[in-house]
Amino acid sequence: MLELANVETFYGTIQVLFGMSMRCKRGEVTTLIGRNGMGKTTTVGSIIGTLESRGGDIRFDGEVISGRPAYEVAQLGIGLVPEGRQVFPNLSVRENLVATAANYSGSSDPWTLDSVLEFFPRLRERLDNQGSQLSGGEQQMLAIGRALMLNPRLLILDEATEGLAPLIRQEIWRRLEQLKQSGMTILLIDKNIDELAHIADRHFIIEKGRMVWQGDSDALTEDASLKARYLGI
Ligand code: ATP
Repeated sequence: MLELANVETFYGTIQVLFGMSMRCKRGEVTTLIGRNGMGKTTTVGSIIGTLESRGGDIRFDGEVISGRPAYEVAQLGIGLVPEGRQVFPNLSVRENLVATAANYSGSSDPWTLDSVLEFFPRLRERLDNQGSQLSGGEQQMLAIGRALMLNPRLLILDEATEGLAPLIRQEIWRRLEQLKQSGMTILLIDKNIDELAHIADRHFIIEKGRMVWQGDSDALTEDASLKARYLGI
């Protein structure tokens, strides 16, 4: 569904991605993992069109999306749960959810305010609270709910559980598992590889702007040297 081939991305004159390649298959959960500063968020920015890649190709459902503005990429059906959640602090939970809602994938059974509130009952209790009044876990649920309200075909989560308490992290993983079971294609950027291994199908490790390893969850968990070599664990 998503394919990056030899993507080169710069900040001004500073090159950060050096021929980055990876892909996400339809209906699967794929992870992009790597140490801090290796280029994960830059890869996400290149996919969603907030950063312009100068080399290589990014294709979504066969269509080249590299070079297209972010709003067009969103309209094609890529939803992002951004690093740091970035909920609108001065809008209520309800407003955060409906402000950008759309059925971009043309789903016959689209996500609605009600179905998102059913998925995250905690948000229903906080419906009239402002984004800034929520806990970190509630903000993460809101950020995921907001992305679902776009009815994306591919959902990208950048560090979805960073800074969250273990119980909330488990709750988020459970919800993502439910989304996977409903057929959603998901790209997870995260560092908690042991927690990810059981829900993910395929993993890509990035180091210094290049994909250096790919494999399934068994291969990832069986090879302890991978963690030491590429993840510093
Ligand atoms: P983290 O988990 O710390 O966010 P990451 O793998 O997502 O790490 P990126 O945020 O993609 O890493 O950063 C990759 C490299 O690009 C780093 O060396 C970083 O310093 C550099 N970088 C990121 N943003 C900018 C920017 N706006 N201008 C210049 N360099 C940047």
